[in-house]
Amino acid sequence: MHIEVRNLNKNFGDFHAVKDVSFDIEKGKLIGLLGPSGGGKTSILRMLAGLEAPSSGDIVFHGKRVNDLPPQERGIGFVFQNYALFKHMTVFDNVAFGLKVKKMPKEQIRERVMYLVELTGLKGFEHRYPHQLSGGQRQRVAFARALAPEPQLLLLDEPFAAIDAKIRTELRTWLKEMIERVGITSIFVTHDQDEAIEVADEIMIISKGRLEQKGSPWDIYKNPETPFVASFIGESSFIDNISSLRGFESAAVHPETKALIRPEYIELGKPGEIKLASATMPATVKHVHFRGSEWMVELMVGDTKLITYRSLEKDVLHPGENVSVLLHRAYLFNDSDSWIMENP
Ligand code: ATP
Repeated sequence: MHIEVRNLNKNFGDFHAVKDVSFDIEKGKLIGLLGPSGGGKTSILRMLAGLEAPSSGDIVFHGKRVNDLPPQERGIGFVFQNYALFKHMTVFDNVAFGLKVKKMPKEQIRERVMYLVELTGLKGFEHRYPHQLSGGQRQRVAFARALAPEPQLLLLDEPFAAIDAKIRTELRTWLKEMIERVGITSIFVTHDQDEAIEVADEIMIISKGRLEQKGSPWDIYKNPETPFVASFIGESSFIDNISSLRGFESAAVHPETKALIRPEYIELGKPGEIKLASATMPATVKHVHFRGSEWMVELMVGDTKLITYRSLEKDVLHPGENVSVLLHRAYLFNDSDSWIMENP
């Protein structure tokens, strides 16, 4: 289902929770709504579902404005973080629930439920009750139940939040594959950037009620449009006074300009190790942390702290040691604009 949202607003009393949010979602895409707690993600999801009325704006499904349609007429499936399964019903009856409500003939229900049970890897578990399942299995039941009435849109609110870290990674991959197979337009809420990057075709970054940026995970990582997006997605060092950094002092940089530098844009070497000596800056190692596959190195260039990584094969650095630093790239931001600077 193609979705259009235009100038969506939500006020709770005098609190403006969702501010003029507009976006389009193409049919079949898996979208991650990502952002810090309290940003408005769940409010947007609930308005799409019809569980909350917009204060203003339009929600259009398939070319038809649905603002006034009740949830059950919107063709939506819902998966919540706490499973919300019926505890006194078996897996079969949980999945069959929406179909019985629709008064589907018994034999057809059986066929559809068995198809979904198989699809979600729950064959053999049909007669178990929710308390006899693991967290991951329960979430699969919730997914099968949501898909049973053949919705056009699947909404998932923090679907992995209650699952163990180890199973969560498995379940994410599983969900992505499943949604691709079914081909259903899906939107999931998360505050976990790794989850959004790994699972979503496109991410929408929501902060303080606003849509900050929408794009593929790679695009958002490579071309962040606001300092918030740059610091929320991926790791970066945030620099207030960039005129202190060599190679950047020549740019027409306003004192208000802020810079963000990703760890991979910092080349680090012992003095003399970096080829392009003219653009290097002296730095001091502040901390070195072993991270399993590499060293994380915290550096000071004057008063500026930078974070980068160094491979295990290179000689270990020690706190207090002098090194050379070359910045290959930075994101620069002022109030109205953002741009990327390459060096040299
Ligand atoms: P989280 O990740 O913590 O779930 P979120 O991004 O989903 O956060 P929302 O749940 O949409 O954020 O909430 C956005 C803001 O609106 C929050 O400040 C919240 O306190 C407020 N809010 C949400 N629902 C209501 C309500 N029914 N009445 C008053 N304020 C509300």
